Amino acid sequence: MKTYDVVILGSGPAGGTAAIYAARAHLTTALVTGPVPGGLPSTTHLIENFPGFPEGVEGPKMGMLVEQQARRFGAEFLFDIVESVDLSAWPFRMKMQQDDLAAKALIIATGSSPRRMGIPAEKEFEHRGVSTCATCDGRFFEGKPVAVVGGGDSALEEAVYLARMASKVTVIHRRDALRGGPVLQQRARENPKIDFAWNAVVANLKGDQAGLRQVVLKDTRDGTTRTLDVQGLFVAIGHTPNTELFKPAAGAPGPALQLDEQGYIVTDKRTRTNIEGVFAAGDVADPHFRQAITAAGTGCAAAIEATRYLESLG
Ligand code: NAP
Repeated sequence: MKTYDVVILGSGPAGGTAAIYAARAHLTTALVTGPVPGGLPSTTHLIENFPGFPEGVEGPKMGMLVEQQARRFGAEFLFDIVESVDLSAWPFRMKMQQDDLAAKALIIATGSSPRRMGIPAEKEFEHRGVSTCATCDGRFFEGKPVAVVGGGDSALEEAVYLARMASKVTVIHRRDALRGGPVLQQRARENPKIDFAWNAVVANLKGDQAGLRQVVLKDTRDGTTRTLDVQGLFVAIGHTPNTELFKPAAGAPGPALQLDEQGYIVTDKRTRTNIEGVFAAGDVADPHFRQAITAAGTGCAAAIEATRYLESLG
């Protein structure tokens, strides 16, 4: 089993930045990409608010550039998925799908995953109309009516993106006020192809062999229902942190990593977790900001802390 100075789990902006800093500090560094190389930004069409890209940068391109930069300093990128982590002994050990490895310092940057609505039909129509990624699946709905669920920035961003190709976009929101910021709100409200279904939640989905045909909307005020003809439904109702591996149910031996009630990893201001030598960065430890730039910032901090930790060990 190969032992690295630093192993980073996750390849979004947090993991990628940690890899740049750790490798540049001459630490042997491995980054395990996980199931979505490039992390959540790689599923975004255009990132417009990351400094240094005045015209914006495509999500997948940003992932590639960060990887290139980290590799330049000697970081290894392992396209693998971690199955279990053993924090009971040092160096920490990881069982992966293809290989096992050990780390003197571990940086967890596994990010977060899109939240689901939790209605039974959601699974039935997954990949047959229901999606959590407009950038990935929007093109399948060229000239067709679609809907987006949610009232936050993600929902508005998806709606604006989908309006380029769909015939009509309905934003379904459970309240009558949007959570998203003013810029995206304005863009969505001013787009003639975008409509809003206020005070509504998705109660059911209907379709045929070809896929989704209708969503049943339930009014959150009086419980009445109505149908909306759509062929695509994009769910953008927030995210949950990817910390399943670290929950007691995962059966990992050794001390438990401290998680908050929502499942986010608890860290101090210096990205240190309750286990010495284990750091967390990015969305997996951040329920508040969830931006590529804040993730990159904490990835940098985690790598600096890991470097100091290894120095303290001599
Ligand atoms: P979010 O801000 O948590 O918004 C989630 C939305 O989904 C809310 O409107 C919420 O309704 C609704 N919702 C939650 N659970 C629901 C359910 N079970 N059924 C129906 N609706 C439900 O999540 P987000 O939009 O993914 O954004 C997360 C963070 O990333 C935010 O800080 C955001 O600013 C940031 N972000 C920024 C950008 C950008 O700046 N370009 C783009 C994307 C995301 P309520 O409003 O009623 O709670």
